[in-house]
Amino acid sequence: MVDLNGQYQSIKEQINSSIANILETSAFINGPEVHALQKELEAYLGIKHVIPCANGTDALQIAMMGLGLQPGDEVITADFTFAATVEVIALLQLTPVLVDVEKDTFNIDISAIEKAITPKTKAIVPVHLFGQCANMDAIMALAQKHNLYVIEDNAQAIGANYIGENGKKQKAGTIGHLGSTSFFPSKNLGCYGDGGAIFTNDDTLAHTIRGIVNHGMYERYHHDVVGVNSRLDSIQAAVLRAKLPLLDGYCNARRAAARKYSKAFAGQDHIVVPVTVTNCDGICDTCDCHVFHQYTLRITNGKRDALVQHLNDNQIPCGVYYPIPLHKQKAYVDERYNEKDFPVTNQLVKEVISLPMHTELDDEQIAFITNAVIGFVNP
Ligand SMILES: *Cc1c(COP(=O)(O)O)cnc(C)c1O
Repeated sequence: MVDLNGQYQSIKEQINSSIANILETSAFINGPEVHALQKELEAYLGIKHVIPCANGTDALQIAMMGLGLQPGDEVITADFTFAATVEVIALLQLTPVLVDVEKDTFNIDISAIEKAITPKTKAIVPVHLFGQCANMDAIMALAQKHNLYVIEDNAQAIGANYIGENGKKQKAGTIGHLGSTSFFPSKNLGCYGDGGAIFTNDDTLAHTIRGIVNHGMYERYHHDVVGVNSRLDSIQAAVLRAKLPLLDGYCNARRAAARKYSKAFAGQDHIVVPVTVTNCDGICDTCDCHVFHQYTLRITNGKRDALVQHLNDNQIPCGVYYPIPLHKQKAYVDERYNEKDFPVTNQLVKEVISLPMHTELDDEQIAFITNAVIGFVNP
């Protein structure tokens, strides 16, 4: 699915010397590399504050802690996402409110959010699934109307742009009150271990969160709030600093591969290619709004599971993200949920299949993969 070694080989010298440098300085935690990465990410994203932390799950949790959400507060998020999003809501004893998503973009459904808002709702957590932003214009408008916070789970969309209805271009993760991301190795900007970060333009929130990631300390050994230990280590920061200048190129490589996939699948029955939404000028082929963390098809003739088996048999990697809606996961089932509110997620879990997607895909591999898929779905 990913080619981490191929990418490493292409940047090996710089990575190795950056890591060797950390070993020499022995500044393993909160060293100058972490601070430098913070500044470089702030510049890249066009945001005032980046707070590095230990992983993307922590980033979400700390964002919710920073907002001071209290047990019983309701937090609305997508039913079709990685479990981390709902896990931290539950862990903080907030009430997760899962809602359906859109069939074409896989992102949270705005009308479903609207329906789920109650007097207890405090926040919305849109997930920019597979590398494309949810409808942030509509989400921010709803948040403003109902006085809610918005935390963008940007683990899959770092580097993506969002072009608002007003034509303004912003980086994914910088539009809500807070954004979170993950630097897990297979993410678009991956380190060589765990890592994550929180983004905000709010000075007060940034200050609060900088304390929370470090045991609630704002002054050494004074613990003003309950915090956590969630730090990015210097070796990961050095890896990320080496890769950040390459991120846009990596996103372009992913987009180019996605375009080739979609071209090969054009006109095929039962194979629905991913949709790119854009407000730029409608020329989806040239826009940079989708960074294709995953390239995900829908197989609409009931042959998805058989296709997975067929690709496995032919040594072609593939993935099903995600096979079970969160509202049906044992840990998150709740009598509040009604099956008729989740028609799309219930359908997507049966139809989706993600193909290999990374920065090192070549034309021969893409042709081999697309031929195998088409040959099986439409023999
Ligand atoms: C990967 C991911 C996370 C969690 O990130 P970790 O760094 O693995 O903790 C959260 N949300 C989404 C949507 C993800 O894809």
